[in-house]
Amino acid sequence: MEAITTTGTFFDGLSARPRPVTLRLTFQLEVSGEDVSRDWSLLDLRAANAAPPLMRINHAQGSESIEFSDAAFAEALKARCPDLNRTESGGGLTRLVLWSIAAGVSVLLTAVYGVPAASNLLAPLVPQAIEAQLGRSVDAQIVGLLDDPPLCNDPGGRAVLDRLTARLAESMALPTTPQVSVRQHKVANALALPGGRVILLSDILAKAKSGDELAGILAHEFGHIAARDPMRSVITAGGTSFLLSLVLGDLTGSTVLVTIGQAAISAGYSRDAERTADAYAVAAVKRAGGDAAALAAILERITDADDEKPDATSFLRSHPVTAERAARIRSLAGEKPAGPGILSEAEWQSLQGICPKPAKPEKTKPDDKDTKPPTEKL
Ligand SMILES: [Zn+2]
Repeated sequence: MEAITTTGTFFDGLSARPRPVTLRLTFQLEVSGEDVSRDWSLLDLRAANAAPPLMRINHAQGSESIEFSDAAFAEALKARCPDLNRTESGGGLTRLVLWSIAAGVSVLLTAVYGVPAASNLLAPLVPQAIEAQLGRSVDAQIVGLLDDPPLCNDPGGRAVLDRLTARLAESMALPTTPQVSVRQHKVANALALPGGRVILLSDILAKAKSGDELAGILAHEFGHIAARDPMRSVITAGGTSFLLSLVLGDLTGSTVLVTIGQAAISAGYSRDAERTADAYAVAAVKRAGGDAAALAAILERITDADDEKPDATSFLRSHPVTAERAARIRSLAGEKPAGPGILSEAEWQSLQGICPKPAKPEKTKPDDKDTKPPTEKL
């Protein structure tokens, strides 16, 4: 590895005295001056706040730090120090204590209650920042597992979707602002992920016959977010090891994420969780002026369509009481309100056009070998 050298200033953290030093970057950072000689591991370097081009680096253990103003050296350091921008909550000792407590608590909870119950207790305690990071990772995992379906972002459709999202979310007590993405995929599905993320697969737009139906689906997913169901199911899928990695802040690249991505696609929520999300959806759609019973109609349509496919069992297995569920939605929804519904006809047309039209429209055959529908999870 090529050595890079620059000059800088060393502070011992005990006195304010700046000491001129030479900095030499190899597989380590060598700090040398008149009465200073340090060989710092690159894993122990942490960037501190400083106005560029000044760069301030703290050593993770102890109170020593250095400063320098050399853009090339800064770039080289960034490239070689994996944890340069890592933020530790309160230093090494706090971290260790947290780690021990979390390990003890999660093992105890898991032993006493089992993983699902432990996840019920722990899901609301996960900080939003960690949940947001986790949401990004799970989103990327799912997109990979679905063979990278293209993102649908027609500006007109996108604007309608954003307005609809804001209108529904307005009246719901959500822990975070939902972020809805649409991806072109032959399966009608919608997935709620940690951090308020929702992925709509485009076939659900094709199956929906009105803005109210799609609003019902969206509001149902927001209902899962309100109840923190995605976080709970991620904890359940990841198990205790996942809880530990959450506390350690080491999520990226974790093999646990693959399990979680798969679980997010294939595992359904409990019947109670679905009923609660349905009730949320009905209330939100009603408040927004839509026909809340439309959710029942689209759920029935998707189930019927799924029934004709060879691997229909997946949807039915995770939604064993669709008839009862639909009846319950209709009774909660009550009378169909007067008026045009939640979206105007023009808005609904725009929203349906959010995905680019395929160059050659072709009919999807039920026995298409390339189609591997993920389990429906609405
Ligand atoms: Zn659901």
